[in-house]
Amino acid sequence: AGYGSDGVYRSPRPAAPIASDPGLSLADLLLHRAAACPTEPALVDAATGRALTFGALRSAVLVAAAALSSRARVRRGDVVLLLAPNCVLYPVCFLAVTALGAVATTANPLYTAREIAKQAADARAKLVITVAGLLPKIAGLGLPVILLDDGDDASASVPSDYAGNVALYSDLVAGVEEAEYRRPPTRQSDTAALFYSSGTTGASKGVVLTHRNFIAAATMVTADQGELGDGRNVLLCFLPMFHIFGMSVVTLGQLQRGNTVVVMARFSVDDVLAAIERHRVTYLFCAPPVMIALVKHGRAGRYDTSSLKCISSGAAPLGKDLMAAVADKFPGAEIIQGYGMTETCGIISLGYSQKGRARQFGSTGSLVTGVEAKIVDVKTMKHLPPSQVGEICVRGPNIMQGYLNNAQATEFTIKQGWLHTGDLGYFDERGELHVVDRLKELIKYKGFQIAPAELEGLLLSHPEIRDAVVIPCPDPEAGEVPIAYVVRSPKSSLAEIDVQKFIEKQVTYYKRLRKVTFVDSLHKSASGKILRRELITQVRSSKL
Ligand code: AMP
Repeated sequence: AGYGSDGVYRSPRPAAPIASDPGLSLADLLLHRAAACPTEPALVDAATGRALTFGALRSAVLVAAAALSSRARVRRGDVVLLLAPNCVLYPVCFLAVTALGAVATTANPLYTAREIAKQAADARAKLVITVAGLLPKIAGLGLPVILLDDGDDASASVPSDYAGNVALYSDLVAGVEEAEYRRPPTRQSDTAALFYSSGTTGASKGVVLTHRNFIAAATMVTADQGELGDGRNVLLCFLPMFHIFGMSVVTLGQLQRGNTVVVMARFSVDDVLAAIERHRVTYLFCAPPVMIALVKHGRAGRYDTSSLKCISSGAAPLGKDLMAAVADKFPGAEIIQGYGMTETCGIISLGYSQKGRARQFGSTGSLVTGVEAKIVDVKTMKHLPPSQVGEICVRGPNIMQGYLNNAQATEFTIKQGWLHTGDLGYFDERGELHVVDRLKELIKYKGFQIAPAELEGLLLSHPEIRDAVVIPCPDPEAGEVPIAYVVRSPKSSLAEIDVQKFIEKQVTYYKRLRKVTFVDSLHKSASGKILRRELITQVRSSKL
């Protein structure tokens, strides 16, 4: 099952060459692809049906890059914050920024002003690309802003309070020619983007991803396509592009393969089903809550979803039963799972159709081409053979360079070239990887990251709170929700609702504390560390 005598698991998939020219950039790779199929649709707006062909995508990226350079003065190494819902211009801007040797950092548009400011400062952003509705959230940053508009909307204008520091995208690119683009001496080893993840422990950190990482991930996620004899695929992207899954796996990886990406700003089951019918979507990448919604939706049968060849779930665990239920509902489609993380540019393993093999639900598939893994016993650090559970460690050309300005967290996570995922899992006899639990602190709400350390830091900033711990509580719909155990200062009359409101003011909706329990003290180890694991186990078995 790909398990070598050296204790390393290797991908059973055929080797797929990953572009080796060290002088190649991510944009070079995509623009090269675009030149090969200029009339095929690359990006389609799900709402309007308006499409950008690969030829138009190529020219949009070059024009945007030239305009960002000459008019917004974006230079090599500068960091540009992308803060917007999914739209066709999102990947255009992402590619344009990286085509200048500059670095894109992406944030959740639902973040509060405080959360955005924290990331903008940490990443040292010099410019923000956003939409008009989000201006109030970034007003305090004092950074120049570009507002995405499609140029046709007559009402789009810069609000007068912001004049001076804000330009419309359509004005920025007006009159700029492709030929004005000057390609910088970018190399694959240069940083392309900073996506944020809390990793194994602590607060959210900038994950340094290079052009090489994206180029490798793009090859890895689409390598099966030729193997399976597929033609072009049509993807539907409602997964947020600010998250690595939406950007690397569902958008850039697919465009690189000449597939069409239908872009959806907001998820709704009806819209998804209608878009599948209208755009003849062949491949659906989703997170577990979307799988639940698809199964529960009463009117799924009213739409023609016969174009679907594959539905793939990732970003959080998905049970066997749910996979089987989705398979019942969409009998023509292969139902698979993928596993990845921000630190691996979105991909580690992926299930794929294996002719002649019985469907096996529950696993996350086998390692994608070019990725190697070890399963390490948490206590003895020994490499474990199939069927034994340990920490999943991976290596390959898609692994991040490290955490931005945080050598300690980097050294803790990447040891001798192996990325320690903080996830527990095992390989079965067929070489398929099962992710069974999470060792790390990270909480996942519908696939979104919640760093307990951030919420604990906020709790401790309250004058009447002496100690606090935040842990995940299982939730049937969201997967997990954050709950807190809090030690109040003597004489404090703080109530649960006061604590919840205190947090609610400062964080986006999914980080809100669903429950606060007051305790006299928190169990700690001899070295003073909160015994988080013990609490989690107790909550799972509902002893608390
Ligand atoms: P992120 O960096 O936000 O993509 O989060 C990555 C983490 O999500 C992984 O380390 C896992 O804990 C979890 N995850 C992603 N995909 C799966 C999956 N298919 N099954 C279980 N957990 C997953």
